[in-house]
Amino acid sequence: MSAYEHEVKALLAAAGVPVPRGVVVRDLDFGAARELNEPLVLKAFGPGLVHKSEAGAVALGLRFADLEAAAAGMEARLEPAGFLVEEQAAAGVELIVGLVRDPAFGPVLLAGLGGVWTEALRDTALRLCPIAEGDARRMLASLRGAGLLDGWRGGPPVDVDAVVKLLMTVGGPGGLWERLELGEFELNPVIAGPAGVIAVDARHLPGEASPGEPVTRATDFLPLFEPGAVAVAGASTSRPNFGNMFLGFYRAAGVPLVAVHPTAAEVAGVPAVPSLAAAEVDYALVAVPAERCAEVVRQARGVPFVQVMSGGFGEAGRPELEEELVAAARAAGTRLLGPNCMGVYSPKGRQTFVGGGMGPAGTVALISQSGGLAGEVIKVGERRGLAFSRVVTVGNAADVTPAELLRWLAHDSETRAVGLYLEDPRDGRELYAALRDAELPVVLLVGGRTGQGQRAAASHTGGMVSDRRIWEAVAEQAGAALVSTQDDLIGVLAFFQAHGSRVTSGDGVLVVGPSGGASVLAADAFDLAGVRLDALPGDRLDALRGLGVVAAGNPLEVPVGPLGRAGLVAEVIDALAGPYRDVVAHVNVPAFFTYGDRTEPLYAYTRALAGAQAARPGIRVTLVTRNGECAPPGVEDEVRRIAAAAGIPVYRTMEAAAVAVAAGGRHGTA
Ligand code: ADP
Ligand code: MG
Repeated sequence: MSAYEHEVKALLAAAGVPVPRGVVVRDLDFGAARELNEPLVLKAFGPGLVHKSEAGAVALGLRFADLEAAAAGMEARLEPAGFLVEEQAAAGVELIVGLVRDPAFGPVLLAGLGGVWTEALRDTALRLCPIAEGDARRMLASLRGAGLLDGWRGGPPVDVDAVVKLLMTVGGPGGLWERLELGEFELNPVIAGPAGVIAVDARHLPGEASPGEPVTRATDFLPLFEPGAVAVAGASTSRPNFGNMFLGFYRAAGVPLVAVHPTAAEVAGVPAVPSLAAAEVDYALVAVPAERCAEVVRQARGVPFVQVMSGGFGEAGRPELEEELVAAARAAGTRLLGPNCMGVYSPKGRQTFVGGGMGPAGTVALISQSGGLAGEVIKVGERRGLAFSRVVTVGNAADVTPAELLRWLAHDSETRAVGLYLEDPRDGRELYAALRDAELPVVLLVGGRTGQGQRAAASHTGGMVSDRRIWEAVAEQAGAALVSTQDDLIGVLAFFQAHGSRVTSGDGVLVVGPSGGASVLAADAFDLAGVRLDALPGDRLDALRGLGVVAAGNPLEVPVGPLGRAGLVAEVIDALAGPYRDVVAHVNVPAFFTYGDRTEPLYAYTRALAGAQAARPGIRVTLVTRNGECAPPGVEDEVRRIAAAAGIPVYRTMEAAAVAVAAGGRHGTA
């Protein structure tokens, strides 16, 4: 696509983007501009003239008679290839509308406050294309400067429908984003006023990157998670290594097992075969040096899944080894997990990569690009009460991708919620599609989000499309929760595990606990997580007073503690719970131990809460045990046990609870 403004504008105009009427002049004869309505704008164009105003290549507010002199001045300074004369649009709110093609996620629409202050304001919103009309409106509403659209300097409001129409023309179904020949472009500014919008500048952005068509293969991953038998290649008869460690794990798990060894008849007591070709298994773990992996995998004909644990491929600057490995897997007709990953964990399927025994089988799945992190989430999560259905690590994801696994897990009968830890979304588009299609709750933790992409600084749009912002758009548009710590990943999964199958009817969130600074801070914590705490419904206040509760705010302050009545919290929830989707109850744990051992009142409080949850399955009760580290050993565990039996998740901090409740959002709301 050619680069000059008038050429870009001609293309966009043909596609329905409003642009000013104008003429192009190359020989300083401005006769053709006579038919344009004053005031006029003169712009010089030519090679290297990118930021025109900075170069003095834009003159505004001209009459026809001014053109020649203005052009002569520019001609002398800039030696342009020609001039664009156009009608000057009436002043209004200056917006920016941009389209970039992200290497991973494909076409992304940017919209926000534009004009000369674009860079300073950095007030823009992103969405992956195609967008729906609701997306366009939410983008505009999310701007800090959204108020400008309601009326500019006391003037009438901007024609927001016209802005939405423009955003749909660029990013909606069948929009300009589908026209690959248009590449990336930026309209800055688009002047928006009461009578409509007009793109007074248009720039084609140098750049490339359009993702290839996503590959979707329908693989049944059940044998990966529940293999009938497993092979381990790489264990040693003399020097125990990773392979030997896995033989140990699998032996403990009790899954039928065979070792692959070129010469030995058995390895560490496990019968051995010389090659994968002789192994009748659903899953083979390969832990030989990177250089030898392809050779081993090539023998895996008839083995549906091979996992390559070894590193030293693409991540180590050896992409050719990785390509060879993928080719070997394709030739053998097997699906490849990794390389550079830890494996699969599924208590139900006797699949594991962690030592120390397996936890209970459950309903939470995890897809992780990092094996180490997956191991931590399993150990810490199980300690906190998570029970996993399937955990799968994908490492470099050279063949099997997170998107494919998510699609399968979304329909897995054992799985009710999915967590993802990702670093490099090779197939971002496909992942986005899988996230959108997944009907179960999903939480995303993305590592390395803060790095600004390698985008050309030539455009405002490029500078404002960072990986972090694209992930935010992905999560928002796909209805997934995006968290920023491992702790929150576990906390949100715990929330989904406890409450995922509830069908709630209310809408608001109620926080209830003892009075004081903690209640004040609770409101801030929820605000930060994007959760509004609505005022209490007026018609319930009498019922509250009847219980002796005088304060009537949200957070609601009630006397809970060692001297309070354990059952009060349940009565308060009963009196108020009708309109609420979530009730978050908090206690200050040390308060129960300051005047001697009041363990029993703490348990009684927890049991009362459990009773309230059982009585009202249509709300989601969450418990925050603040300062729990002050409890005597074992007490917190018992509180968690009572709560878990009632399907109540427990958090140690209000911030963690707020993130989980926010992630729960309207999931499961009828
Ligand atoms: P550049 O972004 O290359 O510096 P623009 O074409 O955006 O140049 O022009 C600079 C500014 O001049 C714009 O931000 C806008 O405020 C104003 N402007 C340019 N063209 C018009 C026009 N046709 N009508 C009204 N204002 C214009
Ligand atoms: Mg401009």
